Amino acid sequence: MVKYIFVTGGVMSGVGKGVTTASIGKLFQFRGYNVDAIKIDPYLNVDPGTLNPIEHGEVYITEEVWEFEPAEDFSLKISEIDQDFGTYERFLGKNMSPEQNITSGQVYLSVILKEREGKFLGRTTQIIPHITDEIKRRIRQVAKRKNPGILITEVGGTVGDIEAMPFLEAIRQFRIEEKKEDTILIHVTYVPFLDTVQQQKSKPSQHSVRTLQGMGLQPDVIVGRGEKPLTKEVLQKLSLFSNLPLEAVISNPDIDVVYELPLFFEEQKLGDYLCRISNLPIKEPKIDEWRSIVNLYKNTEEVVRIAVPGKYTQIVDSYISIQEALRHASACSGAKLELCWVDTEPIEKDHRAIENLKKFDGILLTPGFGSRGTEGMILTAEYAIKEEIPYLGICFGCQLLFVAFCRSVLGLTGANSTEIDSNTPYPVVDLLPEQRAIKAKGGTMRLGGHKIFLTENSRLKEAYGKSEVVERHEVIERFRHRYHIIPKYAEMAEDAGLRVSARDETGKIINAIELNKDFLIMGVQFHPEFKSRPNLPSPVYLAFIKEALRYQKSKNLQ
Ligand code: GLN
Repeated sequence: MVKYIFVTGGVMSGVGKGVTTASIGKLFQFRGYNVDAIKIDPYLNVDPGTLNPIEHGEVYITEEVWEFEPAEDFSLKISEIDQDFGTYERFLGKNMSPEQNITSGQVYLSVILKEREGKFLGRTTQIIPHITDEIKRRIRQVAKRKNPGILITEVGGTVGDIEAMPFLEAIRQFRIEEKKEDTILIHVTYVPFLDTVQQQKSKPSQHSVRTLQGMGLQPDVIVGRGEKPLTKEVLQKLSLFSNLPLEAVISNPDIDVVYELPLFFEEQKLGDYLCRISNLPIKEPKIDEWRSIVNLYKNTEEVVRIAVPGKYTQIVDSYISIQEALRHASACSGAKLELCWVDTEPIEKDHRAIENLKKFDGILLTPGFGSRGTEGMILTAEYAIKEEIPYLGICFGCQLLFVAFCRSVLGLTGANSTEIDSNTPYPVVDLLPEQRAIKAKGGTMRLGGHKIFLTENSRLKEAYGKSEVVERHEVIERFRHRYHIIPKYAEMAEDAGLRVSARDETGKIINAIELNKDFLIMGVQFHPEFKSRPNLPSPVYLAFIKEALRYQKSKNLQ
């Protein structure tokens, strides 16, 4: 028996529907239910892997690489999914499958390929019923495979978007096909505060509810996002105009610690209400463990300041998992994270600008693609090596750290990654051998979870601790790359003091490097941020933050 919860958005996107969805899932976890999630993305891309993060936020990587088989002799590998899955995994503490991210691209591809196979022979292929049937089939397929008690489906975008229409129609049909008490519809809207009249305004939300009703969908709960909790007046208006009792209208204000949202919903008795309308027994929620996690984030005494040099500095969402992983590691070390995005352009123009980096306790170099802004990023790595500032390079950041080492320590002038400079005299980072023949860009990188083999006596191995998983060489981390550090150059670097701290199963792919001087400088080819949880920080991030705090103390002593 599965209860299906659908979450739609109104008024505008980007108001935190993902966090709301995850928090609603948490309410059911508090009551002992097995919860899983689906995200629907109405865009036509098959997966978000080909999207610029500025356009659509971070691309999240799952451990599992899913074989999507829309037709008999056609399959695609998918591991790159929507960033909301990061939020779901962090809140719900479980791994998700790429199959749980349904895009219009996948749905239309399946239907069109089935039509070519002759599956709908003699009939006109249409949005209703073929597209809507495929959407419902995909939702039920997840329910069948994962068998959760509660399956929450978040629909991306906002009600009224043309691309989302087939999904909303599918949900309307779904609600008729299932028993009344087995589906719930939650509408998350935005309630703006109008400065000139000093009032919260419910009208945009009323319109979006009406649009939803016009499509045959009556929401069971309205969640109103805004800077402040909804006023009594707004709650009453939304209840009246949405055809809902007052207790079904919920406030979702800005909060400092996002992990607190489920507790805020609990205070408004949303968990009990959802159980009541779906005929589930009313149980006492077990919230103590989660509350103590939230308290970790509130009771921080120190501040750790981390610089993030790079180019995608315009939109913070591009690196949301990295920010969260840094926050987890900081909170679990008793510190509050202060993150500073450093534009590398001024550093490229005037090398003196780099001195500014000294103010920070650590530097993190982000993942990335292409060549724009990379010289400045390499300069920050050279500077960290020279000044011995705690440093963590992630994926591209690790590759650039290696480039910096080759240039500044090995003296290989002009060393580079061939992704940045195809004519470099020293191609110290180059395409993975299996990537050479690949032309298509979608889902073709080295993706998903792979075992990493940690080097004995390395700082990285020490960071992972002495668990059975570590001893049995079963640490799995998530990857997304085409290029890698070339072993020939790594050998030269090892002679000059750099250590390869992890490799893959074959020993051919270098998974991590480190320089253990006074302070730890390291790079990892994988993305440990995707496995970090609010109470279980990634060992890599934790080692970095601890080192940053140690560096801060040593600076204070000087
Ligand atoms: N562009 C680099 C590569 O493809 C790094 C990718 C990344 O940072 N995720 O190897």
